[in-house]
This record gives sequence, structure tokens and C-alpha cells, in this order.
Amino acid sequence: MNFFNIKHHGAVNGVTGSCHELSLSSRLGGQEGPGILIDCGLFQGAETSGKGASANQLEIDFPIEHIQALVVTHVHIDHVGRIPYLLAAGFKGPIYCSIPSAKLLPLVLEDAIKIGFTRNGALVEKFLRVIEQRLKPLPYQQWQSVIEGPDGSIAIKLQPAGHILGSAYVECEVQKRSDQSLSVASGDAQQKARQGQGSAAGDELLNKHRVVFSGDLGAPYAPLLPPPKSPYRADTLVIESTYGDRLHQGRKERRLALKAVIERAYQDRGAVLIPAFSIGRTQEILYELESLVHDLSTHKLYKDTWANLQVIVDSPLASRFTKTYRQLKPYWDEEALKRVRTGRHPLNFEQLYTVDSHDQHETAVNLVRSTAEPCIVIAASGMCAGGRIVNYLKALIEDPRTDIVFIGYQAQGTPGQTIQKYGPRGGYVELDGERYDIRAHVHSLSGYSAHADQKDLLNFARRIKHPPGQIRIIHGDDQAKRELQQKMQAILPAAEVMIPGQGESG
Ligand SMILES: [Zn+2]
Repeated sequence: MNFFNIKHHGAVNGVTGSCHELSLSSRLGGQEGPGILIDCGLFQGAETSGKGASANQLEIDFPIEHIQALVVTHVHIDHVGRIPYLLAAGFKGPIYCSIPSAKLLPLVLEDAIKIGFTRNGALVEKFLRVIEQRLKPLPYQQWQSVIEGPDGSIAIKLQPAGHILGSAYVECEVQKRSDQSLSVASGDAQQKARQGQGSAAGDELLNKHRVVFSGDLGAPYAPLLPPPKSPYRADTLVIESTYGDRLHQGRKERRLALKAVIERAYQDRGAVLIPAFSIGRTQEILYELESLVHDLSTHKLYKDTWANLQVIVDSPLASRFTKTYRQLKPYWDEEALKRVRTGRHPLNFEQLYTVDSHDQHETAVNLVRSTAEPCIVIAASGMCAGGRIVNYLKALIEDPRTDIVFIGYQAQGTPGQTIQKYGPRGGYVELDGERYDIRAHVHSLSGYSAHADQKDLLNFARRIKHPPGQIRIIHGDDQAKRELQQKMQAILPAAEVMIPGQGESG
């Protein structure tokens, strides 16, 4: 099977920097034929591509002359953050993504470019216009031809991945060029073709290959989003493994855990800090908080407490995303829409305050520090590597009344990971070059993860009707990848289950 190649340019030595390549073999031999990229994300923390790219070295470190299109699975920065560098390297092709992602992507990139490149308004505008021209929004479940030429063809189809709004996994149909397929069709297949039955299957196996890139897969009970359904067919499955070695809390359990943390905040009058990705986690946690407030503020035991709960979202980006999320209701799940029909506003409730400007932010940090009013602060970044959450941590992490709640994955080398690991043992963390003792209580609520857990990942593979002959496990730390590999092999014994290395093709 060598009429196409798969290469991994990121998210093979960790969970960030997602970037995968699917290209056709050139009919001229040796050279790369035309290809596509799936995602082009930032590295975070200590993670690298293994070839040069890292959080501090973001230039594209692989050839792109033959890359004709980029497919974006979802708009998290570790999947799209290097798009400006891809354009700088000379990429001229279209950017395919889902319709909601096309609305959200310019917001993410505007932010990324202001942080990483320039604050010059005219330049930012110009860049965003280029992005908007390149964007090709695709409805879910619809085939789109992306490459069609003498070396063969690649078509793609997006399917809902249930990870964040607009997230997709990508089905790719790779087809050999027609003269090649004629010569490959064996006498046996041709004979079957003459007999009618079986010919389609025979031809298909010889000339076509279905590659599925999972992107990030959501958990079945993610707030707001419908769960992902497995594809009908995958010959090769490239699957993430962020939580390949873990099982999440159930829906009820995670809700109770969050409620307990908030109740503790009421007892000791401390703040609850929730570091969260501006997009996805923030909206989902707001959705859950609205639901807790709604259910408990009418309860006679809790009435006074919960009706007064203050929730602060301190991130201009998160506020803009939340607004866009509200506009994208057609993509919400049935439960969320039901709440809307009963007159509730899951992402815009009374106790919610948003902090926008930098001045407001400083005021908010001081207020939260100086007044003993229990409140919940949600701010980026999700792994505490920069962003406004850092100022809250600096102000409050040494206060034992503070509760820090991690709801997402913390990559190696990020302050979030240090706090999560050493906080419960009375350790310290370095923030902006200074050392802070961690006296706050640290909680990790796995149930709110945007990622499928081990069971969900196995189910995703198991439920593919025409199961994959090859499974490539990516986007996880070593332990997670190895454990998922073992379990995958056990449920799909006929498949080759492998952990690819950086840049490796197959
Ligand atoms: Zn993601």
C-alpha cells in the first residue's frame, strides 16, 4: 500500500502541535505527490516536534511545496496556532473546516497573531482578510474533493467530533490515479467484475483507501455538544490518546464534585479559580454552572447561597467566543436546546460577569484578593502557561482559602501540570520567574474533560463497521499511548496498532 503517505509533524511526542500530512505518492517516483495537512497547531510547555519546532520555535520545519490544502479539525490553539507560520512559509491553498469553526477561527487567530506577531491593527486586519478568503467552510457529512490530478485524488468529509463547537474528525478517501488502478486490477478482480457481485469491493480495496483522522474526540456527555458517532469505514485510523490510560468521572459524579468545591468556597469565603481554554471548556463549565444555579437556587436549603454565586469570566476572547457560541445554537445538543425553549439562557445567566479591558482585569484581581466574597473565576490559559489566570494565581495561590480546579489536560512542563502534581504535596510553582508556595487546595475534575477517555476511544474504534487494518496512535504522552495500544490490539486483533514517530511515513 504505497500510493499514499501519512506523516506526523506534531502531537507525536505529546499532545500539542498537532499537524499531520496525507499525501499521494508521485507518479514520477521518489518525489512527494500533492498532499494535505490536517491541523497546524502550536506546541506548548516542553513539547516539541522532535525536529526543531517547539513552543519557542514556531517556524514550519518540514517541506510544504506539495501541500495543496489545510483541513482544520477544530480551533484550539494546539491545532491551529501555527497557521500564520504556515502562510509565512508560502502556503497558498484553501483552509477547509466546519461552518462553526469558520466563524470561530478568525477570533482565535486574531488573538494568536496579536500575542505572537504584531499589534499593528492594519497588519492584523490584512492577515485576517487573507484567512477569510482562504476559509472554505464545509457542512458536516458532505464529501468535498480536495486534490484531483495525475497522481490520484483525495476527498474529505467532516463528521462531528463532540469536542468543542465545530470540532470534526476527518474522513479522507484516497484514490489511485486511474491508469495505475487499471494496471493493478488483477485478472481475478476483473473476472469478479465481469461476474458482477464482488467487483465493487475488489476494486475498492485495490484502488481506494479510507484514512480517518480523529482530531480531538469528545466524551459522550460533554455539555452542549452531541456525541461523536464512529465512521462507517476506516482502513487506517489515526487516533488521539490524550486520556488513553484513564477513565473519566461520570456525569453525576463530576457535577457533585464541582458542587462540593463551590460549597467549600462558601464555608471559607475563598475564591475558586478555574483555568480554562477560552474556547470550549469555558462555555461548557458556564453551561454546568447555570444548571447548578438553576437547580439549587430554587431549593430551600441552598437558595441563599446559590442565587448569589458570582461567576467571573475574565477573558475578552472567552467573552467573544461565548457570544459566537450563543449564535451557533443550531449546533448545540438537544438538552441544551430544551433549556433554551424553557426560557433559560445557558451561556448568559444573571450571576455571570465578564471582564474585558486590562484595567478591569486588574481591578477584578484586586477585588477578588481583598474581599472575602466567594466567587468563581474562569480565565485562560487552560494550562496556566500565560494569560490572565496567572495574575489570579500569583494573587491567590498562597492563600489556603483558594481552590484551584483543573478541568482540562495539563501538558508536561506547563505551570498547570506543576500545580496539579505538586500542589497536593505542599510544593511550589514558578510563575513569571517567581516562586510561589501552593497553599491553595488543588482539585482535578476529570469529568469535564473535552476529551474522550479510554473507554470512549476504544468504543470509537470498535464501532467502525468496516474496521481499520492499521491504527496509528498519536496525541498522548507515552504511557497513555502504550496503554491504549494494548487495549486496541486486544479488541481489534487483526489490526496493526502502532505508535508512529515524528515525520515517520507509512
Ligand atoms: Zn482540542
